[in-house]
Amino acid sequence: MARPIPSIAVHKFGGAALADSKAIRHAAGIVAARSSGAVVVASAMRGVTDTLLDIAALASRGEHQSARSLIEALRERHLATALELADNCETSISDVIDHELGNLTDLVDQVTHAARPDPAITDSIAACGERMSASMFAAALSALDVRAKVVEATQVIHTDDRHGNGTPDFARTAGAASEILLPLIRDNIVPVLAGFIGSAPNGETVTLGRGGSDLTATLLARALNATTVTLWKDVPGVLTADPQTVPDARLLPKLHVREAAELAYYGAKVLHPRALIGLKDKTRLFIRPLSNLESPGTEVSTHRDRAAEKKHPVRAITAIGGQAIINISGDGMVGVPGIAARAFGALEKVGVSVALISQASSEHSICLVVPSAVAEVARSALRAAFAGQLERQEVEGIDVRTDLAIMAVVGLGMSGMPGVASRLFTAIADGDVNVIAIAQGASELNISVVVEERQVGSAQRAVHAAFRLDKIGGGAVTPSPNADVVIMGFGRIGRELATQLGAVAESHALRVVAVIDSSGYVFDPRGLSKKRLATLVARKEASTPLADAPHGVRAPAELAVAEVQRHALSRPILVDVTAGDTSAVLEAAIVGGMDIVLANKRPLAAPRGSKGGLNSSAAFHGRRVLHEATVGAGLPLIDTISKLKESGDEILRIEGCPSGTLGYLFGELGRGVEFSTALRAAMSRGYTEPDPRDDLSGMDVARKALILGRLLGFDGEMDSVIVESLVPPDYRDMSASEFISRLEELDSAWRERVDEARSRDCVLRYRLMVTSDAVTVGLVAVNSSSSLASLMGTDNQFSITTTRYRENPIVITGPGAGVAVTAAGVLNDVLKLAGSR
Ligand code: ADP
Ligand code: ASP
Ligand code: MG
Repeated sequence: MARPIPSIAVHKFGGAALADSKAIRHAAGIVAARSSGAVVVASAMRGVTDTLLDIAALASRGEHQSARSLIEALRERHLATALELADNCETSISDVIDHELGNLTDLVDQVTHAARPDPAITDSIAACGERMSASMFAAALSALDVRAKVVEATQVIHTDDRHGNGTPDFARTAGAASEILLPLIRDNIVPVLAGFIGSAPNGETVTLGRGGSDLTATLLARALNATTVTLWKDVPGVLTADPQTVPDARLLPKLHVREAAELAYYGAKVLHPRALIGLKDKTRLFIRPLSNLESPGTEVSTHRDRAAEKKHPVRAITAIGGQAIINISGDGMVGVPGIAARAFGALEKVGVSVALISQASSEHSICLVVPSAVAEVARSALRAAFAGQLERQEVEGIDVRTDLAIMAVVGLGMSGMPGVASRLFTAIADGDVNVIAIAQGASELNISVVVEERQVGSAQRAVHAAFRLDKIGGGAVTPSPNADVVIMGFGRIGRELATQLGAVAESHALRVVAVIDSSGYVFDPRGLSKKRLATLVARKEASTPLADAPHGVRAPAELAVAEVQRHALSRPILVDVTAGDTSAVLEAAIVGGMDIVLANKRPLAAPRGSKGGLNSSAAFHGRRVLHEATVGAGLPLIDTISKLKESGDEILRIEGCPSGTLGYLFGELGRGVEFSTALRAAMSRGYTEPDPRDDLSGMDVARKALILGRLLGFDGEMDSVIVESLVPPDYRDMSASEFISRLEELDSAWRERVDEARSRDCVLRYRLMVTSDAVTVGLVAVNSSSSLASLMGTDNQFSITTTRYRENPIVITGPGAGVAVTAAGVLNDVLKLAGSR
């Protein structure tokens, strides 16, 4: 008698779950714990499908050499992962990888120069990533003593022949699934299938569209009458919005299938747009976090919770970028039936699907929204279809407007609830966003709004806030801290900051979730406790890089920040206390929804480029950048400047000495100490950079001056700052050690300058002078009775002359260097961000 079939559970693992061998082992462990009746669907490793599509594109442009080098990189990554996995399992996955990549190379060699990559070949190329993943996953299961078998997905999933976006053939798929998979399941063998691919009626490989592994999983669930299908992701589930755009996004523990389908269709990447087609009632669908096995994530079902709907008529927001509007207008259209139908017909013929349509009640115009990429094709098709009307001037114009996005606001409770639309439009208007078109489906489940793409982030945040979606469902994704802080840079300031934050975290409801150094990072989305931070600090002081700390990961900062951003953190803040060129990391953090606090000067003094620099980019994405500690350490300088500006005062000039190192040096020179002796003392006290010329060149002061200048509206770059270097030309090219050994040669010239100043009752200072037109830094002799002359030790001083404080400028003096005061300046900014939101 045949053994009974256990209840079937389909588990799909996304690219993030398969990022490296550690992740694959973790994912395999999840299946091993529930292997009876399990069916596994594997996506390609993170980033691999993108690379494969690049390979296809390169080959069709005739750049076979570059394509091959990308293949080699894939080979290296997969073989390395396989090797780490295969430690104690007998299957030779490297053979599978070599075979797949061998096929891939053959395919690429076949590609000839063409205007567009051949869709069938592109699909075969793209299929490679999932196939390699599936065999690695099966090996990882075997290593855990789970019996597993890779099943060729194209033998089970059958589709039509639309390459790049295949539509499943339910009946054939169901037949193949029972024939091939059920016997394995009955024998307690876990079938492992590549997601994303199927076969066309002619046997060619077809892909199901980007993100298609979700669809593979739900299709198999349908075909096998599964009890559950679980999509394991690196997000906590389906959230009220994309956490990369709306940092306050919250987990939706339950979601109705129609709401889920609407979100997926309008661009919420967490679900493939067609993942829900035909999912049967009997099967429960879960989207669950890999990182927290205790959380049930989101359950998508047909259950309606009317009370919850009433409380939150809007449940979630999503957006889809890269859209264009085609506007068909003309007086002759009024009252003429069938215009819309004709337009749709014309577009269907050229394979363009219309995402949204809206018609003004005057019937004077119809707007169709289509992806920008096909806007021109669509326009030509419409011109042809309306040629007669255009000639008779019944239709006056067919115009295209690009760079738009659709924001969709979704919730079953919106139906029949008065006032939702008006609240929505008030929120959008309050967010200073312009609505270009509106459409509401008959179901009232979704209101879609077309806005400019550059404003769609602000629009979503405004609507999310207006409908209080941060208070929804299971509440906060994490226990609602005021802010989650990531410290980038774990040198002296970073460590001091970690200690200071550790001390105040609890009382300010802050969490430090990650620390990053040049070796790697330590990240815990639940927060690093004060004790754990203290241990990391102590170990780092004893020269253990973070990558080697417990749970440390070796990775560049870019990847560390990307990893952190994959979690739905609460109001994340990235603190940059490095001294490096971090502009790219900061830019990515801003795009991903993080606020920024800087002690690092470089990003603010860097060339601003086409995007207008960090501050413009932050403004564009609705993020904030605070940087008190970049000039004058913790002194309230930048804060004073912004308060003066906010109050309508005009800042005319800032003058000051912002360098503790040079301040100390000139203080000593004034007291009659020789230059070489004073500089060596500064070096031994740790006041200078390892090469003291970095201080003497004036570049550090110049950066600070440029930062202040930019606050005053100076629009030049570093090369328009006038900098006087204190290093004589002959001493600029030698090694640091030679320079240091020859300091005495400079003593007499310095003595002369000091004496000359003294004879005029002056002292020397290295000073910045900043206005909106000019930024200058250099050596000056100031009168002994002036306030600058009174500066002591490493103190800084700034005097701010404004329209209101013209006679008697505001003077700020105090410790402008040092680890503790700099960290305190940073901490202050962090608290400001956490408190103000
Ligand atoms: P997989 O690894 O399974 O393919 P995806 O990367 O496709 O997973 O889906 C997760 C991504 O979806 C996240 O990076 C997240 O930024 C994005 N996303 C967009 N909208 C939402 C939402 N409403 N809820 C959760 N994630 C969302
Ligand atoms: N690997 C495919 C993609 O990146 C399919 C998937 O991830 O679901 O689109
Ligand atoms: Mg996906």
